[in-house]
Order: sequence, then C-alpha cells, then structure tokens
Amino acid sequence: MAVACDSPCAVVAAGVPSSPESSNTAVPSPFFDGLLPETAAFSYVSMEEPPQIRTIPRSTCPLCEGRGVELHGNLRDVLYGAPGCWGFLRCENPRCRLIWLHPTPVRQDIGLAYRCYFTHPESFESPGLSARLRSRLYAGYQCLLRGLDSLFGLGSARDALERRHLDPRSRGRLLDVGCGDGSFLYRMQQQGWQVTGIDLDPQAIAAARQRYGLELVVGDLQSARFASGSFDAVTMNHVIEHLFEPRETLQEVRRILRPAGLLVLVTPNPDSMGHQRHGAHWFGLDPPRHLHLFPPATLRALVEQAGFRVVALETTAVHADIFWGASRSIREARRHHRIGPLPQKVRPLRALRAALERYYEHVQLRRHPLAGEETVLVARSDAP
Ligand SMILES: [Zn+2]
Repeated sequence: MAVACDSPCAVVAAGVPSSPESSNTAVPSPFFDGLLPETAAFSYVSMEEPPQIRTIPRSTCPLCEGRGVELHGNLRDVLYGAPGCWGFLRCENPRCRLIWLHPTPVRQDIGLAYRCYFTHPESFESPGLSARLRSRLYAGYQCLLRGLDSLFGLGSARDALERRHLDPRSRGRLLDVGCGDGSFLYRMQQQGWQVTGIDLDPQAIAAARQRYGLELVVGDLQSARFASGSFDAVTMNHVIEHLFEPRETLQEVRRILRPAGLLVLVTPNPDSMGHQRHGAHWFGLDPPRHLHLFPPATLRALVEQAGFRVVALETTAVHADIFWGASRSIREARRHHRIGPLPQKVRPLRALRAALERYYEHVQLRRHPLAGEETVLVARSDAP
C-alpha cells in the first residue's frame, strides 16, 4: 500500500525478493478483487506454462526435528501463478508448533516463485485511467478508515505499525531487511534516521533508488557482510516467513546490531482468527513463498535462541481488512480454478465488509490478544 499506508504481504530480503508494508506497492486490497490499484503490478512475463519449480520433501520440523502433521494440502498459488502443488505441515511437538511448507522449493528455483511478484518497476510507471481511478478509490477508502480508526481505538496501533514500533523520538542507524520499494526507509529518513536497505530484488531496488535516492544494497543479508555492531535498529517486515534459514539470519542480525540494539519483526500470525476462519485459503499462507509460519510463542523462542531479549510481543488487526479480502478472493479463485492474476474489479460492498471485519477483530483482541492477523515482535540484542 505504498501510497497511503504500509501493508502486509511483503517479499523478502535475506533470501528472496522484497516486502509489503513499508515496501511494496501492489498489495492485495479488500477494495478490489485482486491486488492493488496503484499499479497494475504484475510483471506476468507470459501466460504460457511457467517452468516447474523443483522441490524437496521436508517431513520433519526444521527447528526441532519433531514430526510434521499435515495442516493443509493440495494448494495452488492463485495469487501469482507460481507452478506446483503445495502443502503445510505443523510440528507436533507442543513446545514448537512451527508450520512449514512441504514440499519446499529447492533454493536454486525459489526465484520462480517470485516471477510475478508485485515489486517490479512497471508498478511505478504511469498507470492507465482505470488504474488511476482505482488508486483514487483506494485512497478514499484509506481516508475513511483513518477517520474510523480513531473512533474504534485503532489509530495508535496503526501509527505504531507504520513506524515499525520504533520510538518516534529515537534516531540512529537503521537497516530495513527486505526494503522493497523503500517507502518506509524514506519516511524514517525524513524523521532523522540514517537509513540503509537491502533486498534481493534488483528491480525493486532500482525503482527505490530512482524514486527516493536512497542508499540501498541488492543481495541477501549474509553476503552483505555489514560491519559488526553497525546498526541501532534492524526491521524485518514480512520477511522472516520467506527465509530458508530464519535462525541463521537472526544470528546475523544480532551480529550487526550494536549491544542492546533493536530488532523489529512483523510476520503473519498462523494463530490468527483469519487462519482459523479461512483455513487453507488464508492469505497469510501464500504458498510457495512462505516457507515457515511462526505462532507467536514459536517466534519468541526462536528470537531468544538467536541471542535476543524479547521486550514486546503482540498481534494486530491493523491489516485484517487486507487479509480478509484477499482470503475471500483466494477462496473464489480456487473454487473457479482460476490461477492469478486476480481480476481488478472494484467491490465497494466487499471493502465495507472487510473494514467491519477489521474492527471486529480489533475488538476481539481484548479477549484474545494473540489472535490478530500479524505478529509484531520487538527484541534487544543481548550483550555478547
Ligand atoms: Zn518443531
């Protein structure tokens, strides 16, 4: 939601292409049947059958080696049309409960899962009339939400998520892993942060440089070899679920953070009301791009094992409208055997329903605080 706000659905950085909220541009929106207005963001290279993604089975838990039990199976990627048939297993170890993609793409083929992703430059070129109209309608929807947010007490949660829970008075050196189109970093730079971004997607980085003139790095976090202790804060918005090696990446983040530096993670929450409700059609699953999904307690344990002290762990309904709308679209596409891109129909009633679902979830969080669509974790690196 590059335009009016940040949103979820990112891409990657430490191993894959880049992220949604801060970053990218086209994100599923409840207002349209498909993905965002502002851009017609698909770089569908062709509608021919794309090359197959080679896979390996993963029947045991990548974190604890517990046995995996099938959670969802036989899933097609209706959002971006990546080839293949996918499923998710859940670790039966009650102290772990990690969810992972099974089978998993081999590392060399993961790029095929992102061929049609939404961070590509055509997103930034002048859109046609209908795209501009959709963009305006969407901006109006966002304006309406902002007004209603103060009534429903969601305004502060939204503001906090937009600045990734960084203290508005703090300043320092900030790295955004999976920076996508750079819009989050640009905002933080305006607030006095010294910013750096890294993303695997060269097209997203080139567009961000052109748009904001930011210093950005193309590549994965491990290969970048930033100096030890060189950042005061590292943010990873919708990134960790895309990584082949989340534990090793967190250890690298700890190395490049100064002692007591801040890590902020935002990731889809598989314990959410949305997952419970939409099941295999839940937007947060996003096969085959999401390789791991972390229940809040699993995420906490992983971060602590990597040498951090968790200072805040919460879930939020700020993007529950997007999750709800996209999940409904995924369900319909599967029912009609349609494989991406989703049609860009304007659906005001659906937008209204999505907004109501968002406020309903926000109110429910008082009773079930860990049932929001996204988990936000803030941690400090312990002294080595
Ligand atoms: Zn496990």
